[in-house]
Amino acid sequence: MKAQPQASHFIDGEYVEDTDGTVIESIYPATGEVIARLHAATPQIIEKAIASAKRAQKEWASWSPAARGRVLKKAAEIMRAKNRELSELETLDTGKPIQETIVADPTSGADSFEFFGGIIATAMNGSQIPLGGDWAYTKRVPLGVVVGIGAWNYPQQIACWKGAPALAAGNAIVFKPSEVTPLGALKIAEILIEAGAPKGVYNVIQGDRETGPLLVSHPDVAKVSLTGSVPTGRKVAGAAASQLKHVTMELGGKSPLVVFDDADIDSAISGAMLGNFYSTGQVCSNGTRVFVHKAIKETFLTRLKARTEAIVIGDPQDEATQMGPMVSLAQREKVLSYIDKGKAEGARLVTGGGIPNSVTGEGFYIQPTVFADVTDDMTIAREEIFGPVMCVLDFEDEAEVIARANATEFGLSAGVFTADFSRAHRVVDQLEAGTLWINTYNLCPVEIPFGGSKQSGFGRENSAAALEHYSELKTIYVGMGKCEAPY
Ligand code: NAD
Repeated sequence: MKAQPQASHFIDGEYVEDTDGTVIESIYPATGEVIARLHAATPQIIEKAIASAKRAQKEWASWSPAARGRVLKKAAEIMRAKNRELSELETLDTGKPIQETIVADPTSGADSFEFFGGIIATAMNGSQIPLGGDWAYTKRVPLGVVVGIGAWNYPQQIACWKGAPALAAGNAIVFKPSEVTPLGALKIAEILIEAGAPKGVYNVIQGDRETGPLLVSHPDVAKVSLTGSVPTGRKVAGAAASQLKHVTMELGGKSPLVVFDDADIDSAISGAMLGNFYSTGQVCSNGTRVFVHKAIKETFLTRLKARTEAIVIGDPQDEATQMGPMVSLAQREKVLSYIDKGKAEGARLVTGGGIPNSVTGEGFYIQPTVFADVTDDMTIAREEIFGPVMCVLDFEDEAEVIARANATEFGLSAGVFTADFSRAHRVVDQLEAGTLWINTYNLCPVEIPFGGSKQSGFGRENSAAALEHYSELKTIYVGMGKCEAPY
């Protein structure tokens, strides 16, 4: 199986190679096979990409917002037409089952281009401020060259969620995908050219944690948008702050999902499974601390165990497969070590806990795992595992569960299942998180803002709110009379 792109980077409208860069191997997680070899960007490639973005941004920003919007909507159309091809590539890049990528990855990227392409014709409007005889007006203007840095769990979606609002607002972007999943973003860059974007407004360069800092500290970069872990966020935000650059930080989480005793139990189990097992558990907003009221705990666990054991694990290219491998061997090792810690610290293993016997070969498969009787102090209840490991904790009292749910440095997401609507709103009001769900979990349509609080980051992606993070206000005071001075 091969997925070798024409070259490693896409700069100024074309594929570019520089074999002096460190080799990045793209590994298909279902087999462990190397499916492409790329090179990390050298300093020359970085300069070329940023210079191209800087030049192209001036022209792009001079287009009317409606004209930019037309390009983005065209890109959405092309992505939808190529959904199967893009989904197959995303499956090779990440190991996620085609059943998922076909509905969740390129389609979510296309939604983003369509949404921002649609709203931008009016979203850049400013205001007029009367001041007696004089007056002022405001304009919303782009920031300039934006750097986007992606994680490996949603490579195409991240490339679009950063690219669409950045481009809509009139910026140019240099996007660096994760070194683990280098393939998908190159296709997004190709599609934007096909849709009529000027060369250089969307560039993709490859690289790892050595490459990222060179982009972040480049003097011609106005803003950095990172999706990644909290430790990386601290480094990137620190480097950007030292040059007073704008940042958006989409970081990790350890989100609570609270199931009250009046909840529809099957619906709550669906929410907990979606929020722990989708994408083999590699989702930042996952509700990995599932607080279940003691009165319904055993029923919840019995039904959850049966449904978890029925998950179809296997070849991600088979449409019947519901769960593929983890993205990398290293990530699986990390998750298995957390499972060991859970067992050692006294959590009760309800199901899973190892490598499935049903799959043979060198793929990075792991069983969906449920722990019960988890307590707040256990490592598996405190640290982000980023794999299909659900921790079920007991509670009895509303105030108690809110305090425990908030006792974490993270604040990305949270969820509540209950039939009592006043309780639902009262509880979400007190939960410390950026994105919350009532009686569902992990749905992130482009219309709603998405992002975290506390250590999970700041800034918002999606919705009109994202445009505020890719533009700034310019205020113009208009003097209508003679300028007077006391001198
Ligand atoms: P990571 O932090 O290891 O890497 C993220 C990206 O940052 C990669 O492209 C990497 O090359 C780059 N990078 C690493 N060090 C850097 C540095 N010093 N300067 C600049 N760039 C640097 O994260 P990961 O393992 O790729 O992804 C998993 C993490 O991402 C999890 O913590 C997850 O919760 C988080 N995540 C968050 C969201 C969100 O929207 N909040 C979405 C997906 C993933």
